[in-house]
Amino acid sequence: METIEITKPFNGHVHFRNGQMMKDVVPYTAQHYFGGVCMGNLPGDEVIDTIEKNLAYKGAILEIAPSFKAIVPLMVTQNLLANRKTIFPAAKKLGIRVYKFLPGGLSTNGSPGLSLYDFYTPAFREFFELLIENDCVFSCHFEVEFDTNGKKIDPRYQEEQAILFLQYLLRNFPKLKIMVEHASSWQMIHFIRNLPRKYRIGVTLAIHHASITFPMVINWRGKFVDSRLYCKPIAKYPKDREAVIEAMFSGDPRFFLGTDSAPHLLEAKIRKEKPAAGIFSDPISLQKYAELFDAHGKRKYFENFASIFGPEFYGLDPSKEKITLVKEAEKNPKLIAGIPVFLGGGETAWRVKN
Ligand SMILES: [Zn+2]
Repeated sequence: METIEITKPFNGHVHFRNGQMMKDVVPYTAQHYFGGVCMGNLPGDEVIDTIEKNLAYKGAILEIAPSFKAIVPLMVTQNLLANRKTIFPAAKKLGIRVYKFLPGGLSTNGSPGLSLYDFYTPAFREFFELLIENDCVFSCHFEVEFDTNGKKIDPRYQEEQAILFLQYLLRNFPKLKIMVEHASSWQMIHFIRNLPRKYRIGVTLAIHHASITFPMVINWRGKFVDSRLYCKPIAKYPKDREAVIEAMFSGDPRFFLGTDSAPHLLEAKIRKEKPAAGIFSDPISLQKYAELFDAHGKRKYFENFASIFGPEFYGLDPSKEKITLVKEAEKNPKLIAGIPVFLGGGETAWRVKN
C-alpha cells in the first residue's frame, strides 16, 4: 500500500468559533495539525480584540487540545486601533505577535465600520508603524466590498481589486510582515509570485480554492447551486484554481497551507436569506491536499508546503512528530455535530493512518 510520511503539518488559518461548536471542531484540526493560526472573529463584543480575551480564547482551545500550538491573533477593530499604544507593549510581553484584519461586512463577523480604505487613515498608518517596530505580523483578508463610488463590487472581483491596497502597504511600509490570507484569484497570486523576495510576505492557500469553482456555488442567474460551498473569498474560475494549485507546487516558501476551515451549522449554510460564508474542511483537509499533490505527481513539494514553510513564517520550529497518509479511499463524513463537512458524502483517495 502506498504511503506518505511527513512532519506533522501546521494550519496557517483556521476558525474554531467558541462554546460547544469549538469543542466539536478543535479535535478535527488538532488530530492532523500540530498547531495553527486560530482566528478570533467572534460575534459582537466577543471579538478577540483585547489581551484578556486573547488569553481566555487560547486557554479555551488548550483545554480541548492541550498540545496544540495555537497562535491566536488580536483582531483589528476600532477598539484595538484606539488602544493601540497600550496594547502593543502588553501583547509583546505575552508573545502575541499576530494582528488580523477582517474588514466589516465581508465575511463572518468582520470588524464593523472598517475597510481596506482605512489603511490611509492616521490611526492605521501609526498601527502599521507599531507592527514594524514590534516585529509583528499583519494578517489580512484582502477583499474590498465597495468601489470609490460606493458601488458594491461583484464578490468574484473583490480580491483582485484589493491588490491596490497591498501595493500601498508594500510601497509605504516595505518592512511590514504581511500575511495574505487564502489567496484565491490568479491576479493576486501572480502579483505576489512576481514580487521581489525582499518583501516579507506569506500567503495561505485553502484546499477548497484548489478544488471548486464559482459555477459550482452560484449559477448564471446568480442563484445558489450549493450554498454549502459558499465562502469568502468566493471560489472563482479554472484559471484561478490553476494559479492556486501551481503556487502550492511552486516550492516558493511564501505559499503554505492554511485551510480556512470555518464551521457553520447546516441551517445557517442552507437558509434562503444570506447563507453563512465559510467551509468546514478540517476533517478531510489534509487528506485532500495529499490527494491533490499525489494526483499531479508533486509529492516532493507536499511536506514543505504543509509542515515547514508555515511554521517558518511564524517563527516556530516545525513539529517533531510525523504523520502518515495511506492511499486508500475513504468516504467524507456528511455532517459532524450538525456542521456540513466540505465535500461530504464524496470520497477522498487518501486517509490518515491512525
Ligand atoms: Zn478565515
